[in-house]
Amino acid sequence: MEKGFNAAYTLPVTIILFIAGSYWPILLIISAIPFLLYVSGLCASYFLFYHTIKCPECGHNPTRRKDGKVASPRYLEGKFKKMTECPECAYSPPHAPSP
Ligand SMILES: [Zn+2]
Repeated sequence: MEKGFNAAYTLPVTIILFIAGSYWPILLIISAIPFLLYVSGLCASYFLFYHTIKCPECGHNPTRRKDGKVASPRYLEGKFKKMTECPECAYSPPHAPSP
């Protein structure tokens, strides 16, 4: 089944292009494009995940631990599944599904 662009293939394709680039130097220039897309995608997803998930009422960021450091995405996945309201101000969106 075709799902379009898959970011998981970007890094292996880039590595293969870099190896092939030692034989055909033009491929090094082409390989820089998916590599830059991959790195910028990582940076963008990191920034969006840890800086834009906020409570609309009080601005509480649930992706941060109490000491201000970022929590791991694996831990946050379980936390978000159980979360129905803001832990700081108890705000819940008007159309939130009931638990
Ligand atoms: Zn809140």
